[in-house]
Amino acid sequence: MHNLSVFNSLTGKKERFVPLDKDLVKMYVCGPTVYSFVHLGNCRTFISFDVIYRYLLHLGYRVKYVRNITDVGHLENDSDDGDDPIVKKARKENIEPMEVVQKYTIDFHENLKKLNTIPPSIEPTATGHILEQIELIKKIIKNGFGYVKNGSVYFDVLKFNKISKYGKLSRRNLDDLVHNSRTLDGQNDKLNPQDFALWKKADSKHIMKWNSPWGEGFPGWHSECSAMSMKYLGNRFDIHGGGIDLKFPHHDCEIAQSEALNQNSKINYWLHANMLTLNGKKMSKSTGNSILPGELFNGDNDIFSKSFSPNVLRFFFLQAHYRSILDLSEEALIASEKGLKKLEIGIKNISKLKTSKLTSGFDISNWEMNCYKAMNDDFNTPLLISKLFEAIHYSNSVLMGKEKISKKDKDFLLNKTSIFFSKILGLNFFGSKKNIEANELLGKTLDILVDIRNKSRANRDFETSDQIRDELSRIGITLNDSEDKTTYKY
Ligand code: AMP
Ligand code: ZN
Repeated sequence: MHNLSVFNSLTGKKERFVPLDKDLVKMYVCGPTVYSFVHLGNCRTFISFDVIYRYLLHLGYRVKYVRNITDVGHLENDSDDGDDPIVKKARKENIEPMEVVQKYTIDFHENLKKLNTIPPSIEPTATGHILEQIELIKKIIKNGFGYVKNGSVYFDVLKFNKISKYGKLSRRNLDDLVHNSRTLDGQNDKLNPQDFALWKKADSKHIMKWNSPWGEGFPGWHSECSAMSMKYLGNRFDIHGGGIDLKFPHHDCEIAQSEALNQNSKINYWLHANMLTLNGKKMSKSTGNSILPGELFNGDNDIFSKSFSPNVLRFFFLQAHYRSILDLSEEALIASEKGLKKLEIGIKNISKLKTSKLTSGFDISNWEMNCYKAMNDDFNTPLLISKLFEAIHYSNSVLMGKEKISKKDKDFLLNKTSIFFSKILGLNFFGSKKNIEANELLGKTLDILVDIRNKSRANRDFETSDQIRDELSRIGITLNDSEDKTTYKY
């Protein structure tokens, strides 16, 4: 029996995690809107839920993990009347909306694979579930919480508020909940400004539309997650997750829809992952304050002077708690790169420890308990990582002959550190210790070459400096000179 507690955004408290079915956890996580390349911020959220998924599996649960692909209906600025960015992109590039969707879905999958995330059990698309969404909207209308106006359908928030509380997740007052909507288009159709769209009428020029009882149109953004979570997980399930920016309006609207459909609907734990920032501002596709995984992995960007591997990025993310804001910076990534290397070599070194009859200086079962305690406390990965460092610190003292370890404890420690490192945190062991050391030596050698080249340039010995640059370039190492320093990429 485990002791897992999770922070439930709905109650604002840490709660003991008890799934509805004792062996099976049902989890829904909002997936990406596929109109552009996935950025590092999106990746952080999906890695946060990957660790949660991995840990639930490790605890022995079967997990039905549903993560959707939003390929229609999520309008610009989360509004009810903006453009659909997928349609906009298709128009701009003169291609089908489904070509846009295909391109960015592939990019999303490729990057999540590089980041060693485990695919969900089901990955449904919004366009593949139009019928389910129409059925859901029909029932909401039948139950009296939806109304049709000029070919669109809206959710009647004030009426819903009589049977429940709208906005309970984001804890907002009804007066604050005016839905972002342009006054000219559609807003006048709403009975109240708090209402939100379940279905939108499409005009003749609109290129992504379906027949419905209300005429040609497309579903509102919130309809898809309610329809798909209910289809695959039922109207009561365990975990619903997503980035914290989805609390309102998306998740509050989902709660309202589910309850309007069936008053017994309930999602027990709402988990929200916090944002990745760049220069202190939320990383975001629409503002352009973003960096793509590929740009970080191959060093092709104007922000960082070197490349960082997917493994380092993953470790960097997990060094922060998933509910904390995290700022991306070169110094922090360099520190993570060093830390990860140290941890990896440290774990590998455990296998080389000479054993004695007894263990001294370290209580291994207490250490293991503390590792689980960290993860059981709302998936505290930074604390778990600090426990892994404690273990290698101890292993190093055995290596130096200061402490002793028994054969049984050595095997146990190696096994446990490896499981926490690779199975739960999802980090890759990157080749042999020799490879890591060789890479380190290469970095140091390049620093020496860059130094010699800078000195030659200062002495106006351009023959030598050019030779260093050109010969390195021939073997695939590019030097970049900026005002105050020279960096390299390979
Ligand atoms: P989107 O593709 O915009 O629908 O976002 C996909 C997921 O990424 C959602 O769960 C968002 O909450 C999350 N997300 C968006 N921006 C960030 C960010 N800067 N940091 C972390 N997660 C983010
Ligand atoms: Zn969603």
